[in-house]
Amino acid sequence: MVRGPRVDRAGDFAHHTAFRAVVVRHAGRGGAKAAGDGGLQGGPAVPGAGIPGDGVAHPVPGAGQPVAGADEVKAPRTEIARPATLAEALALLATEDARILAGGQSLGAALNLRLDAPALLVDINGIPGLDRITLEDRHLVFGPLVRHRAVLESPLVAREVPVLAQVMPHVAHPAIRNRGTTAGSIAYADPAGEMPAVAHLMAAELVLASASGERVVSARDFFLGIYDTLRAPEEMLVAIRWPRTGPNERFAFGEVTRRRGDFASVGFVARAVIEAGLVRGIALTAFASEPAPVLCPAAEGAIGQRLTPGLAADLAGAIAADLDPMPSLAGSAEQKRAQARALARRVLMDLAA
Ligand SMILES: Cc1cc2nc3c(=O)[nH]c(=O)nc-3n(C[C@H](O)[C@H](O)[C@H](O)COP(=O)(O)OP(=O)(O)OC[C@H]3O[C@@H](n4cnc5c(N)ncnc54)[C@H](O)[C@@H]3O)c2cc1C
Repeated sequence: MVRGPRVDRAGDFAHHTAFRAVVVRHAGRGGAKAAGDGGLQGGPAVPGAGIPGDGVAHPVPGAGQPVAGADEVKAPRTEIARPATLAEALALLATEDARILAGGQSLGAALNLRLDAPALLVDINGIPGLDRITLEDRHLVFGPLVRHRAVLESPLVAREVPVLAQVMPHVAHPAIRNRGTTAGSIAYADPAGEMPAVAHLMAAELVLASASGERVVSARDFFLGIYDTLRAPEEMLVAIRWPRTGPNERFAFGEVTRRRGDFASVGFVARAVIEAGLVRGIALTAFASEPAPVLCPAAEGAIGQRLTPGLAADLAGAIAADLDPMPSLAGSAEQKRAQARALARRVLMDLAA
């Protein structure tokens, strides 16, 4: 089982709450770590350096003494390996205190904030063929370097697993989507991540490989908690197998964020088969409010029925009541439950539309 960055108190989770807590803890120690530990050093403030003409003093890296505390938010010393094959990468994972470097969008922040300090980064970006999206009989298969942007722009994804194309615009911003990978997002298991939620909803098959073999885990079982998954440290997520969407299937998505592209405080993604106006099957996954994506069984009360506004409101009440939201900077548990009730109703009505 893999635990990602340290989060001391699950109850305090909000996105970046953990990051802030660590920064505050370091700052409280009042300063520099042992010399030579490899943290990128900020130099003293030099008037006029940095942004021309702003008249503000900016730190210049490497210029003289470190600014007090500046080294506390930079990455620890870490070796980087750039394997040319998957086998080499898996061998490195088996023998070292190593982390895979995929898009680096989450790992970079975790290292800079000293939430993680591995001995070795295994940069998989030089391994050919890991960015493929392939169509199989019953699945659309992503390699571990399929980037968010490629998902957003792929006609194959839009046709075969349209919920991915529907949700992806809500993942971060274009600069992050250019580098960030779906596999990295799922492996990282941020409770507020949209891709873990979609994988959970779709019961995507996650192929985990190590030097000693492969196993396949359902995304319904994979997520254990905040940054915590079933993946063993020596395992790499080498493929995500998305079930191809069938006829009459519909999807809906909603999340509460402060701004579009931010991490959500409450979110739902839903899948239903609706025939002749009646719900034949439904699944609803809640994310962000809980430590890991969870299925909302109360949504199954819609089966055999027409999704009217009244039914959606009743089901939304039951769905929200079943949740156990984490209080965070984004709101108290009760605020999040109220948001969940309103959002679940809207998502259910979107399914019916
Ligand atoms: C400002 C900002 C805003 C963001 N907003 C959102 C958002 O709204 N929604 C959202 O979902 N995400 C968001 N993200 C995260 C983004 O989607 C990341 O790209 C993603 O979480 C991690 O993907 P990555 O490829 O960058 O992984 P990396 O940062 O390279 O790796 C993340 C972790 O996963 C591990 N890992 C990576 N690939 C694998 C693999 N194949 N097998 C096993 N372990 C692996 C790494 O070792 C590391 O521990 C945001 C990021 C930033 C910086």
